[in-house]
Amino acid sequence: MILKSAGLLTRRFLFTTTTLKMSSTAKKLDGRIAIVTASTDGIGFAVAKRLASDGAQVVVSSRKQKNVDAAVAKLKTEGLTVTGMVCHVGLKEDREKLIEDTVSKFGGLDILISNAAVNPVFGPVLSCPEDAWDKIFDINVKTAFLLAKSAVPHMEKRGRGSIIFISSIAGFQPFSALGAYSVSKTALLGLTKVLAQEVGHSGIRVNCIAPGVIQTKFSAMLVDNDDVRNKVLEGIPLQRIGQPDDMGGLASFLCSDDASFITGENIVAAGGAQSRL
Ligand code: NAP
Repeated sequence: MILKSAGLLTRRFLFTTTTLKMSSTAKKLDGRIAIVTASTDGIGFAVAKRLASDGAQVVVSSRKQKNVDAAVAKLKTEGLTVTGMVCHVGLKEDREKLIEDTVSKFGGLDILISNAAVNPVFGPVLSCPEDAWDKIFDINVKTAFLLAKSAVPHMEKRGRGSIIFISSIAGFQPFSALGAYSVSKTALLGLTKVLAQEVGHSGIRVNCIAPGVIQTKFSAMLVDNDDVRNKVLEGIPLQRIGQPDDMGGLASFLCSDDASFITGENIVAAGGAQSRL
């Protein structure tokens, strides 16, 4: 009797230690294949790094091969599993190659982070020249839509998927110097809602992150000059400029099963800055 109980306890102990061992090494994005656009610097790079740290096979990309090579090398030195590919999101052949090559190399696609954006002009919306308007909407909105359109059939095949659009707090609370850009970022909030409704039945979730002011090259105008920076800080209850890594955890959470019942949401991560439509 005593021997029998001892055997049972040993088996339980072995089961528990094995389970603990497995759970301590298993990562929440293990087995997921992820594409992050515009990910050789700034927010995209931080998101790619975090997804890879959390177990995803990540494909980083941007327009310039040298930036892709440098980003991949940097992530690999951190022991992360990443590959890289050139993709100017405004070019159809680059977008198609990014998705098709990822699928053929890794066997599918689970995560798309559509992060690329431009802002070629500063000023109120009515001063925006037509060609600048077209460029802003082409890159910030149309390519996000087209990438999602190409990604969805591959996610449908796997019966799961997570798409994240990177919008901006400017999409909720327009920045006066970023008129047209703010409109484009509001459009992404709508795209998130519409697409989430259309693809939910396939197990694909669509969410959107609206970062506040984050220290990157893109935001140099807002953060490099002390006076402007202090003015910006007045509107941020957490009293600091965000860092790219502040976006990584949120993106990883939204892609993971921890967010399995979250779709169609636009999540502001802006240190408490005002954000209401
Ligand atoms: P960033 O630091 O300037 O990073 C730009 C990245 O995008 C680089 O990897 C660049 O590499 C790549 N890139 C630029 N144009 C591209 C294109 N057409 N196709 C593919 N890749 C391209 O920018 P960021 O601040 O991280 O911004 C990322 C996203 O966050 C954008 O959607 C932006 O609107 C949004 N956002 C930023 C802030 C902020 O305060 N920083 C706030 C709210 C929202 P290459 O030069 O090699 O292409």
